[in-house]
Amino acid sequence: MKKKKGLEAFDEYYGSLFGERWESLKSSLLEKKKHAAYINPFFEGEKSFLDDAQELGLPNSYIKDIWEKPTKGEYYLLDPASILAPLALEINEGDEVIDLCAAPGGKSLIMALQNPKRIVCNDLSHNRLQRIKRTFETYLPETIKEKVTFAKHDATRWCLYEKNAYDKILLDAPCSSEKHLLESGEEMKEWKEGRTKRLSKLQWNLLSSALEIAKPGGVIVYSTCSISNLENDKVIEKLLEKKEGQVEILQKEFPFGEATQYGWEILPDKHQFGPFYLAVIQKTH
Ligand code: SAM
Repeated sequence: MKKKKGLEAFDEYYGSLFGERWESLKSSLLEKKKHAAYINPFFEGEKSFLDDAQELGLPNSYIKDIWEKPTKGEYYLLDPASILAPLALEINEGDEVIDLCAAPGGKSLIMALQNPKRIVCNDLSHNRLQRIKRTFETYLPETIKEKVTFAKHDATRWCLYEKNAYDKILLDAPCSSEKHLLESGEEMKEWKEGRTKRLSKLQWNLLSSALEIAKPGGVIVYSTCSISNLENDKVIEKLLEKKEGQVEILQKEFPFGEATQYGWEILPDKHQFGPFYLAVIQKTH
């Protein structure tokens, strides 16, 4: 029998995952995304961002209903939930950092603004990498720009060339992006359950590569904007099974969202922002 596809199959799949919550979650996914402004501490022009903005409860982060598009590098707009991933890495000045799936670059920018020893921004897409380069030109002072390297490699293979090399790793993995799917009718027509299964395999390949790249004692933040458990906690569960004794999950609490089995999730029906999932992993040796 031919496998079902499209919105009906999507509804059935996520309906079975979320039960009674699905209808309200689905309608919240169709609402317009809310943005936070992450303030650029190096901006030297006239400041305007604080007019009627409120603190978000995260360093340098503000929210308000409508933002003007920033042009001069005063602040960077992104989903408030996305700010959690770079901050969860707790980057210090001595850290060697890599963002394995970096483009278009919002999270990389926040990491670079923490002024680490060096930062590598990698992405497989040439066009998307150009966007990070433009953002960094606008936002970063020369003293930080000289610590940045850009790369365009397949991150699943990075571990073949470099091992035990980074203190802090962000793996903001390609994922099902269900919010985007619901908003774009065309892609939804082709949706099949295999999509999330296929992506969870890619995510596993990326995460096991990230583990090899991390220094012993190093920290990896794994994140997605998916609501599929297969792409979130299940990827971490596989890591704990396959790399037993080599990793520890650091269960952190954040100002908004809810704990999952291994990580933290922000879903827009309950927490206004997201969808976003993150887990914080330490390589023990
Ligand atoms: N971290 C980014 C940000 O905050 O702007 C968003 C990253 S997006 C969720 C995932 C990215 O992974 C895409 O830009 C895509 O080009 C990249 N990507 C997909 N497969 C990859 C691979 N095998 N190696 C490296 N990058 C990959």
